[in-house]
Amino acid sequence: MFRFQSQELPLNLINTEEMKRGRLVDSLSSADNLKLWIQEMNANQLLEGYCSHTLKGLEVTREWLEEALPVIRDFRAMLRKGLEEMADHGVPEAGWVERLEAVLEKAPLIFKYAGSSLAAIPLEKGPLGLISVIAYQTLTLYAEGKLQSVRRCSNPKCIWLFMDSTGKRKWCSMKICGNRMKAERHKQSVPTE
Ligand SMILES: [Zn+2]
Repeated sequence: MFRFQSQELPLNLINTEEMKRGRLVDSLSSADNLKLWIQEMNANQLLEGYCSHTLKGLEVTREWLEEALPVIRDFRAMLRKGLEEMADHGVPEAGWVERLEAVLEKAPLIFKYAGSSLAAIPLEKGPLGLISVIAYQTLTLYAEGKLQSVRRCSNPKCIWLFMDSTGKRKWCSMKICGNRMKAERHKQSVPTE
């Protein structure tokens, strides 16, 4: 159900919202959707090294999901604002970094040796633990200068963001938006009789 076009958690989280036929579709609109998102992120190894250990050991109960849903959606809105500012101006809005730091303060992480890397594991087993992990990855990407390559998809009907490491990429996905835009341009260039 979910299309993950990034290895990065913050982008995968904000891209759970998309435009379909001019309408905003939120794939995290219910506790069941959220459960599916976590399952699919795990199945794609996207939580590996972060909180997969916690989430696997954690019983993601109905209660957990109901509590998590508004927390994660609020966090997603905050995340989107900062990333859109990065895409438009190269810097996040004032106070954004501090807001991410505050998330980490509420649910600190511990680190465990996991072979080739350190796994960051939240002490907090509730939903704050999950957003803490995403805040940590966002701040890490920012500190490494990688968030500076966040771009908006060139399809004006698409609200997805992506990281452009090559400096040449225009679409969130060549398969979807790239081809769609090409087809549309082609339609416009064919003279009508
Ligand atoms: Zn797109």
